[in-house]
Amino acid sequence: MPLPSMKDVEPAQLTLKSRFKFRCHPGVKCFTKCCSNINIMLTPYDIIRMKNRLGMTSSEFLDKYTHMDIDPRTSHPIALIKMLKDENKSCPFVTPDGCTIYSDRPANCRYYPIGQGTWRKSTEKGIVNEEFYFFIKESYCLGYQEDTEWTVESWRKDQGVDLCDELNKEWKEIQLRKDPTGKPLDPGQQSQIYLASYDLDTFKKFIFESKFLDVFDIPDDELEKIKTDEIALMKFGFKYIKYILLIEETFKLKKK
Ligand code: SF4
Ligand code: SF4
Repeated sequence: MPLPSMKDVEPAQLTLKSRFKFRCHPGVKCFTKCCSNINIMLTPYDIIRMKNRLGMTSSEFLDKYTHMDIDPRTSHPIALIKMLKDENKSCPFVTPDGCTIYSDRPANCRYYPIGQGTWRKSTEKGIVNEEFYFFIKESYCLGYQEDTEWTVESWRKDQGVDLCDELNKEWKEIQLRKDPTGKPLDPGQQSQIYLASYDLDTFKKFIFESKFLDVFDIPDDELEKIKTDEIALMKFGFKYIKYILLIEETFKLKKK
């Protein structure tokens, strides 16, 4: 997302039915102003879309366009777009005419000016994740002065963010999870999570060209699918992360 500073966040929580007026178009005086000096966190599905749009492998994309940070709350690695070192710290994809990868832009850019978060709540049925929304109101953003009316729900649909959320749901749930013992992840776990979340082309090589298949018993049809289907590979990556974080026994070891 553009990760807002707290001063930019409207405190009211929104629901899918909340209404607002907003329109962003090349005619606004602030056009592309929001595409500089921001933290945009990427999801696994964002990276698939962006690297394919640019005709790059995942590792080429990550090297050129991202930097890694560690979430201080969960110690999970996170990939963020690396801003340019120009005067405005511009996003590498912005030009005076707008975003050069617009139809494949990340989910958090699609959501803007709505921010989205998830609470982990204790209920009678156990821990559940509850989504919430809020406005990001930057003083320079003139889109709020326009007359087009939305609900959060219609905005999400219009911006194509509902598909992104559906595909990222499982990964987001993993991201929210803290180790029950309170121990931070070790560097080995962090690099495996990074690999299986973001660097899917290298992850595929790890599956097929290392000893991975000597250790784990993976059904042939699943292996065939992940050879050609990147969404299936991404979901396989989520299973692998769950296995290494001991969330679920998603893989069986091969019998010797
Ligand atoms: S600052 Fe607001 S209105 Fe201006 S380009 Fe960005 S989102 Fe659109
Ligand atoms: S990816 Fe596109 S929409 Fe997002 S900040 Fe960069 S230029 Fe703006």
